[in-house]
Amino acid sequence: MGTDLIRLTAAEMAAVIASGETSAVEVTRAHLDRIAAVDARVHAFLQVDTEGALAAARSVDERRAAGELLGPLAGVPIAVKDVFTTKGLPTTCGSRILEGWRPPYDATVVRRLRDAGMVILGKTNMDEFAMGSSTENSAYGPTRNPWNLDRIPGGSSGGSSAAVASYQAPLGIGTDTGGSIRQPAAVCGIVGGKPTYGGVSRYGLVAFASSLDQAGPFARTVLDAALLHAAIAGHDPADTTSIDAPVPSVVEAARGADVAGLRVGVVKELGGEGYQPGVLRRFAEAIELLDSLGAKVTEVSCPHFGYALPAYYLIAPSECSSNLARFDAMRYGLRTGDDGTSSAEEVMAVTRAAGFGAEVKRRIMLGTYALSSGYYDAYYGSAQKVRTLISRDFQAAFEQVDVLVSPTTPTTAFPIGERVDDPMAMYLADLCTIPSNLAGNAALSLPCGLAPEDNLPVGLQVMAPVLGDDRPYRVAAALEAGYADRWGHPLLEEAPAL
Ligand code: GLN
Repeated sequence: MGTDLIRLTAAEMAAVIASGETSAVEVTRAHLDRIAAVDARVHAFLQVDTEGALAAARSVDERRAAGELLGPLAGVPIAVKDVFTTKGLPTTCGSRILEGWRPPYDATVVRRLRDAGMVILGKTNMDEFAMGSSTENSAYGPTRNPWNLDRIPGGSSGGSSAAVASYQAPLGIGTDTGGSIRQPAAVCGIVGGKPTYGGVSRYGLVAFASSLDQAGPFARTVLDAALLHAAIAGHDPADTTSIDAPVPSVVEAARGADVAGLRVGVVKELGGEGYQPGVLRRFAEAIELLDSLGAKVTEVSCPHFGYALPAYYLIAPSECSSNLARFDAMRYGLRTGDDGTSSAEEVMAVTRAAGFGAEVKRRIMLGTYALSSGYYDAYYGSAQKVRTLISRDFQAAFEQVDVLVSPTTPTTAFPIGERVDDPMAMYLADLCTIPSNLAGNAALSLPCGLAPEDNLPVGLQVMAPVLGDDRPYRVAAALEAGYADRWGHPLLEEAPAL
């Protein structure tokens, strides 16, 4: 029974709980058992909140028994990236500098999950302060890809993607600053959505690069991702960048699953040389499938996308160098070097040297340099101009087509250890995802099969205009159904034998 329960989709879990066929407590127990059975190998979780999860599940069962009408995901368990504050529950951001910190409040996303009656199983591993593409930059050791334990699960939200792919949770929350939801979703064979910037509140999301950070859903099906998106999205007065507009109808789009007549643009600049042959092959098949489902596919050029990566690696470190100044040994977490005689500056320096890892220090130095008075215009200023050009590329493209598509990542999951000492190689993992962060538009990754050379998942990225979040769900749902029809099974039935 437990094994059957964890294999259900989130929508199915909610339905069997709502019908009384099973209880939220039973569903939660099945997932806690799965975590106990496999997470020593995967290391998706930094913290499992057994008691909190069971209490939340019990409350759903009691409220249901009392006749209360509950939301569409009530009783469904979820894994939350450790970058969101959770009241009373440790929040580390994958860093030593926050070890042991228990926030006094819940992030808006966390509050909305609780209000929806969802069961937070625990906090998931991540690259330190969300900087990375492999989860190897976590101070607490890497997470492993459930499809092949010697491979990376993507990053920075690799704990959440691995938890969902290994059936430790049906749903997960990640954040995407340059690709950290879409890239781990792609390499773990699941669905991951980056909402329009401002679509989901950043209140209580520990900031990396504030103009780029965006929270979003992980799930094994498109509908599940849409249900979660709808549960967390919407205006929040506590976040000044939150958009005060109706949430796009993502759930209806996922149920609609129709692409007849839809104009799909293949981004010329994202593909070809440097991409793994199996990735290109699965991408080409997805395009054929879209065509056979009635979409009108054309090629579209976005000439400035080639400058997105260098612009991002000036803008994101610049913002991080400012945001991470708050870790000063006075307010949160770690404090070392205070022998009673040292100055505040000395304590700060010693604490930051001990508390931050190599990648975080690299970014703080890069950002401080790019923002320094003599170099500001040459580096940060130029990068901001490139950012505008990329937004204009998107605007021009969306005058011709409804959505843009590309592979999500140039390669499948690479081996653990392969890129950790080669930052440039690591940065390339986000080549296709970064443009959407710079422009703030909506994008999503969905599984489109396994690469023949290594049997590892390949992701297809669907991008849409700002506030056009429903479109990627419509396209992804149509493809998901198309794959199921063609091959007679949902992609994930082949998933990891753990
Ligand atoms: N891999 C990118 C980086 O290291 C993106 C990270 C993210 O989206 N949080 O900055």
